[in-house]
Amino acid sequence: MKKIPFLDLRSQYSSIKDEIDSAIFSVIEDSAFIGGKFVEDFEKKFALYTCRKHSVGAANGTAALFLSLKALGIGEKDTVVVPSMTFMATAEAVSWCGAKVLFADVREDDLLIDTEKINIKDGVKAIIPVDLYGKMVAPGEILKIAEDRNLHVVWDCCQSHGAQISRGREVFKAGRFGDAACFSFYPGKNLGAYGDGGAVVTDSENISNAVRLFSNHGREGKHEHAVEGFNERLDGIQAAVLEVKLKYLDSWNNKRRIAAKIYRERLAPKGLWMQKIEDNDSPSFHLFVIQHSKRDELLDFLGRKGIQTGIHYPSAVHLLKAYSRLGHKIGDFPVSEKAASRILSLPIYPEIKKEQIHFVCDSLEEFIAEKGL
Ligand SMILES: *Cc1c(COP(=O)(O)O)cnc(C)c1O
Repeated sequence: MKKIPFLDLRSQYSSIKDEIDSAIFSVIEDSAFIGGKFVEDFEKKFALYTCRKHSVGAANGTAALFLSLKALGIGEKDTVVVPSMTFMATAEAVSWCGAKVLFADVREDDLLIDTEKINIKDGVKAIIPVDLYGKMVAPGEILKIAEDRNLHVVWDCCQSHGAQISRGREVFKAGRFGDAACFSFYPGKNLGAYGDGGAVVTDSENISNAVRLFSNHGREGKHEHAVEGFNERLDGIQAAVLEVKLKYLDSWNNKRRIAAKIYRERLAPKGLWMQKIEDNDSPSFHLFVIQHSKRDELLDFLGRKGIQTGIHYPSAVHLLKAYSRLGHKIGDFPVSEKAASRILSLPIYPEIKKEQIHFVCDSLEEFIAEKGL
């Protein structure tokens, strides 16, 4: 079996090359590099896609989170709750505002924020739920806590583009909940640009206006700067690429779901940990994560068979060197810490072939037969 890469952006490009090339050329022809019609068109389509009133492009997902917090007025006196198992950018965005990060541990069965472990004390102004690996955090509990305690919710949807959750007959897409929801279009995400990109979606005109203002030098007119802002805008070329790719997102996600189904059917009987998925969940399967007690050995074993894997993430956020100033120690968020030592992300992308998935599963079975779980 030929090498199985972790991700295959090249083959995705081949399948839409003509459309992408012509979209990029149109931006260059129009010199619509910053702002302009390509950004506006994409923003409109992305708002429709997420069923939100407004969408504002951002330079990347971290900026989307940061600009949303700024728009909500989060600043130096405030504290924001962040799960201890996420990409560190979720926490970084809080620090960029000058606010304090307060970590909360995650649940063992799906590694999403554990609402029972959210410690809401004085100064807490907002929560950032993270749709880790593409599974949406159930909105009910989060929105209830937010309402009871008068907190803002900024949803980190950087891994859940196109994920869905249903309640009764209603279906909600990722990004639908919270005061603002934030997306990253980093190339490897389910909806990825050809460089950095991000977006904030919201139903609030005030938040949308404030995000736009902060992202563009606080500019209200060409030379009228109402506040000191930042330069965190989405580029025209990225917007044009994203507009092409958005049309394919649902079909690409469905292919990921088919791949995930094969993994789950083959691996569940072996007793491997996999993220718990409820019946009403239809995740985006940005990542397909398993756990094993000999994770590093397993990673090497698969690597020798030509199977590329990843770890998302090898350290819980509170134990990263970057957060040593917070004085956390091992044992503070035990579920995240244990998961960090056991998780392994298997290859998953729309273009992955059934034979490749079966080969990964055969290899896992071989490893388990020898080493146990
Ligand atoms: C990718 C990601 C981000 C940050 O996105 P960038 O575009 O890289 O800034 C934030 N949170 C999560 C959970 C992510 O996966």
